[in-house]
This record gives sequence, C-alpha cells and structure tokens, in this order.
Amino acid sequence: MNNFAMIILGASGDLTKRKLMPALYSLHKDGRLTGGYSILGIGRTPYSDEDYRSYILAELRQFVKSEEQSEELMSSFVSHLYYLSMDPAEAEGYALMRQRLVDLTGDEQPDNLLFYLATPPSLYGVVPLHLKKAKLNSPHSRIIVEKPFGYDLKSAQELNKIYVSVFAEHQIYRIDHFLGKETVQNVLAFRFANGIFEPLWNRNYIDYVEVTAVENLGIEQRGGFYENAGALRDMVQNHLIQLVALTAMEPPAVFNADTFRNEVAKVYESLTPLTEVDFNEHIVRGQYTESGSKKGYREEKGVAPDSRTETYIAMKLGISNWRWSGVPFYIRTGKQMPTKVTEIVVHFRETPHQMFHSAEGKYPRANKLIMRVQPNEGVVLKIGMKVPGAGFEVKQVMMDFSYDQLGGLPGGDAYARLIDDCIQGDPTLFTRSDAVEASWRFFDPILRFWKNNQDAPLYGYPAGTWGPLESEAMMQEHGAEWTNPCKN
Ligand code: NAP
Repeated sequence: MNNFAMIILGASGDLTKRKLMPALYSLHKDGRLTGGYSILGIGRTPYSDEDYRSYILAELRQFVKSEEQSEELMSSFVSHLYYLSMDPAEAEGYALMRQRLVDLTGDEQPDNLLFYLATPPSLYGVVPLHLKKAKLNSPHSRIIVEKPFGYDLKSAQELNKIYVSVFAEHQIYRIDHFLGKETVQNVLAFRFANGIFEPLWNRNYIDYVEVTAVENLGIEQRGGFYENAGALRDMVQNHLIQLVALTAMEPPAVFNADTFRNEVAKVYESLTPLTEVDFNEHIVRGQYTESGSKKGYREEKGVAPDSRTETYIAMKLGISNWRWSGVPFYIRTGKQMPTKVTEIVVHFRETPHQMFHSAEGKYPRANKLIMRVQPNEGVVLKIGMKVPGAGFEVKQVMMDFSYDQLGGLPGGDAYARLIDDCIQGDPTLFTRSDAVEASWRFFDPILRFWKNNQDAPLYGYPAGTWGPLESEAMMQEHGAEWTNPCKN
C-alpha cells in the first residue's frame, strides 16, 4: 500500500484508545499496514507528537492482549502516529489539518486517505462540511462514521443528506462493529456454504427465532450518554436488527458489497410494520433496579432519579415475505443480566408425530440450532438421541462446534477487520444509507409512542436477572420460551 494516511477525529477519546489504536496496532503487527503510512490524531487536548505517542503506547500496554504485545512492534507502530491539537467543531483548524497532511504525505491528495469520525455524535454533521470546505474530500478519501448514525429517522436522513453532499456513497463507511465479528460473518457461511440447512430455513420448518445480545454490566460511567440513548437506540436499531437480517436474508447470487447489502435492506423493508397492539403487547421495556450490591439504573451517576430510559427491551418481530410469514423473531437486549452473551437460536418445528418418551419428562423437544456470537463462540445443534438401555427414551444432546477446532479466533478484533476492509475499499460489512433509513423507519414509531405515552409500561427487573417476567409472557402465546444460556 502506497501513501496511506489516516486522520482520527476524536483521537484523545475513549474509543480511540480502547478500540482503534489496538486495532491499528494489530494491523501493523500482521503486516497489513505497510510503507510509510501516517496516522494523524485530532483533538482539542494538547499533545505534541511525542506526548501522544507516549500516551498511546501506555494505552496499548493496557488494552492489547498481553500475548500480542511486543515492545518492539508497539514502538515501531507509535512512530507512525502524529497529533494536531484543534477543535474539529470549528472550521479554522482544517487548513492546518490539510497542511499537516501535506507535510506527512508530501501530497495534497494521498492515494489512500481515511478519516475516522470518533467524536461525540453531535459533531457528525459538521465535520464533513468542514472537510469539504478545506477540500479534503478527495475522490481517494473515505470516511468511517461511528454509531449512532442518527437519533431517529429524521436525523439519520439529515446526516445522509450531508454525507452524500460531501462524499460519494461508496466513500462512506457507517460502522457497526458487530458485522466485523468472525462469528457474525459465520452466520452467512453457515447458511450459504452448507446445502443441508437452506432447504429447512423457512416457515415450513422453523417455528421461531430468538436473537439475544445481553450483558452482565450496567451502564458503567456512561450515564449521560445512555440517558439519551436507551437500549433500543444503543443495541436494537443497529446490532440486533443486523443479526435478524443475516438470519433472514435471501442468498445473493454473487457475494459482493452491493448484492449483500441489497439483501440486508430487503429484510428491513419486509419487517411487518408495528401497530398499537404491538406497542402494548409485543414490546417489553425494562429498567434494572437495585439488587444486593448492584445499583439500580436510577441510582447510577448521570441518570435522572425518575428516568424512563429502558435498559432492557424484548420485542416480537415479523417478516412479511414468502420465506418468513408467520414466523416470530423474538429479540432482546439488556444490561445487568446474569451473563454476557450474544446468540441466535433457531427453533425448528417438532416432528409431526411423537412416538418416544423423553428422558426430560416430556416429548423430546424440537431441534434447536444455536449460533453463538460471543462468548464460547461456536455453533450448537440440539438433537434427540436414544438413551442407552431398555425402552425408547430420548434425550436432547448437543452437537457442538467450537472455534477452538479452527485454531481459535484471530487476535485482532472486529475493529481491525473493519478498518482493514475500509483501507482496501471494501464496504461490504458497513451499513448503507438505505438500510440505516429503513431500520429507523421501522423503529421510529416505537420511540414516538414512548415519547407521547409517558405512562407506557416500563417494568423494573432486579439487576442480575433475566429481565421483566412480562417478556416470558410475551413468548408464551406462541408456546415459546427464551433460551437462557445459564440454564439451557
Ligand atoms: P468521547 O471520549 O466522549 O469523545 C471523543 C473525543 O472527542 C474526546 O476525546 C474529545 O477530545 C472530543 N470531543 C468531545 N467533546 C467534544 C466537543 N464538544 N467538540 C469537539 N470535540 C469534542 O467519546 P468516545 O467514547 O471516544 O466515542 C467516540 C464516538 O464513538 C462516539 O460517537 C460514540 O458514540 C462512538 N462509540 C464509542 C464506543 C466506545 O466504546 N467508546 C463504542 C461504540 C461507538 P478533546 O477534548 O481532546 O477534543
């Protein structure tokens, strides 16, 4: 790669030190960044180049896995870092940025120029306009924009309008780090590289699908941010719905950025619009309450004592198309759950006729396929087997694939994969404008409903539990139940 330059706006922030720099170090270590590349950090905090290098070196020692740390490689990596102190919100600094870029690359328009927008979201609209004014939006440039891309449909549309006035769509990379995870990408390989599942992957054989992404932590120190976001904006509108799309999409004829993203957008556009009944019966909103030594959400720093922000949401979704009509997709996310897990569980229909007794006391349950994104990454198929001995008792057992069988997952995390893809000019795993808007179009009415109905139910759940019992009740009408990894 010749003449690669990256400019990180918000380079003194949390994301940069915890995710971006370790990811870039991992690309450096693996020889993915070659030649005399330069990474220019931008922020208001004053650092000299030397100070910034020392700061990042110290953070790498904290945030890079110890087995991947090499003092020599980390030192050679930070020698590519530079820093310019300026306020990215103000136009004045951009001429300096341009000059610094020329000094570093010897070129006004480097062959491969990448901007990474890691500022607070309030600057997402203004930065591209400043870049354009300073003529930094060359056809060789790309921009990665962090989440959240918009706060609702209107703001996402406004942002899209700004971005396409500065860059062509193929230069805009809206990042959703879930798509950078090996195990998420493996959902596609699992479905489309194996002939045996696709014939069953439809309403005739699948009873219902669960998508869970929960964590056992609270909001940590991010009360101010979370109060304005909530679980729907933070997790559902982007990450969970991506997982639904990968599970439900049609196989593209060829796999490339356009065809893949066309199919994702089609799933979003096929989501069955929500009605008043759904708002009340098929959406369960929760907020964690104090339990033992764990604080309740309203006791967290930066959270209003009467906050109605949801830290848990469970929903029943439908997909109105030939393949999925009538199959519920139950999705949920929550903070302060008993464990951290992200997984997709596909429940197949039961056999049409039941001949055997189950060792568990009822008829052997239907087959279940679990695609575990994290932790214990792998795929598990639950099938009924005869218990050895007299009679014909059947018990559910697990066919279990773990990533350890493929030598484990690579060291670099999702960010390394996605930044590398962007450098190579491959937008496949980034969200396209039509998909962002289609997703907001679906979820926007829920946010409006909550805003206009302050008495809409918000259930408390003790921190460390699986969320409001109402979410169990929501599934019972289908004879379904959540797969809670601690117990199943
Ligand atoms: P952050 O630490 O709050 O902000 C990043 C940097 O932006 C700060 O270091 C600050 O640097 C600069 N900044 C803050 N307020 C500013 C203002 N009003 N005007 C100009 N610059 C300002 O945020 P972060 O956690 O790194 O997150 C960055 C972005 O990534 C956010 O949009 C967030 O939603 C997204 N994100 C973060 C994470 C994460 O794990 N942190 C995960 C997913 C997405 P100076 O004070 O030096 O200017």
